[in-house]
Amino acid sequence: MSILDILRKKRDGGQLTSDEIAFVVKGATDGTIPDYQLSAFLMAACTRGFSLDETIALTKHMAFSGSTLKVTLSPESGRKVRVDKHSTGGVGDKVTMILAPILACFPSIAIAKLSGRSLGYTGGTIDKLESIPGFRTDLSKQEIENMVNRLGLSVSAATADLAPADHILYKLRDVTGTVESQHLICASVLSKKIAASADVILLDVKYGAGAFMKDYESARGLGLLMTQVGKALGVRICIVLSDMNEPLGNCVGNALEIQECIEALRDEGPSDLSFICVELAALMLVEAGVYLSIEEARKEVQLAITSGRALAKFKDWVRAQGGDLESFAAQSSKVAHTVVAKTHGWVAAIDADRVSRLVFALGSGRSQLSSSINPTVGVRLLKKHGSQVKDGEAIAVIRASSFQDAEKAERELLQAYRLVEHPDQVPPRQLIREVFSSNGTVRPRL
Ligand code: URA
Repeated sequence: MSILDILRKKRDGGQLTSDEIAFVVKGATDGTIPDYQLSAFLMAACTRGFSLDETIALTKHMAFSGSTLKVTLSPESGRKVRVDKHSTGGVGDKVTMILAPILACFPSIAIAKLSGRSLGYTGGTIDKLESIPGFRTDLSKQEIENMVNRLGLSVSAATADLAPADHILYKLRDVTGTVESQHLICASVLSKKIAASADVILLDVKYGAGAFMKDYESARGLGLLMTQVGKALGVRICIVLSDMNEPLGNCVGNALEIQECIEALRDEGPSDLSFICVELAALMLVEAGVYLSIEEARKEVQLAITSGRALAKFKDWVRAQGGDLESFAAQSSKVAHTVVAKTHGWVAAIDADRVSRLVFALGSGRSQLSSSINPTVGVRLLKKHGSQVKDGEAIAVIRASSFQDAEKAERELLQAYRLVEHPDQVPPRQLIREVFSSNGTVRPRL
């Protein structure tokens, strides 16, 4: 088999066989196919597209291109169903850190989540968790297994030996304009999830200004493709299509987001964030077979929060991974700057993309994986979609390293807000638009 023949075939719109795709994936992983040929392959895949069979083959070969993580569950632990969750990424998306302790309150559930760091404007769960002093994210397989059997959960950094083909291809996609291909995104996301060996995978596919997929239709197309590929590869996948036009919750920035997770687990979180967390947790419990109806699952999830069990689980988990919540509470940014409205009206929209860029500029993100970040900077929005704003009223608090940074961020933030004169002009917002699953269940829009 030759890479040149494969490239010509794809360039001309031919359909690659599973063996040909396996050849490319192996060559990417062991370095025998150089970057320029891999880049040509990615561009041909992007422009010519992939059939469903090709996407299934690419996902499968990428998933098994390195080691896999299958957590062994001991009978004494009572944990039986391995669940996993992934979001295609959004601004202020801190759902994993709320969802995981909620789910771990249910005795049969095991969640060994592998997460990434932030790159560019996208936030990363690992960076958020590392804003807690002492929190360790470099867990070994044995440590993950111990955590999951003892507490029901662990969240640690994905290692390079898990689906290594994706690490190599993703880096090339980033610099060759080939990220935006549904087939390549599907293979990239699912290969990592399949390598992590969960029984049930919940994928939160986001659309809107602050998401990868800018519109609902493309997010839906990606979601449907993922369920088909998941079904072909024997994994149960549940897709949630959710709105990411506005930041999720009030806080954006690493430590601020952890603080907001604690508030949500105390049942004092912002309504959009709490809604998403409860819905995702309930859906997961139904998919995992813990409850038959979404209504019953929702009620039990609410109870896990209001009883304090979910917050207690969060604290046990943080402590078990070395985190010190007292030191966390004591740290703060140098500057806290309140932004006031220059006019009055009702909040019709807050541009999530703009907010993520200004928080990035404050120092919360990294332009290269080796850059350092400032965990304490960010923004807390005090007015969200539908809120009334009076002239001179506080609308946000910016946390920054200097007054100059805060003032720059303030100018951007005021531009991110779109106010209208009358509440009737505020467009309705549907946070979760649709849910469907690879076992054939298509749930009504929520
Ligand atoms: N996230 C991934 O892991 N891969 C993609 O291709 C896009 C988002």
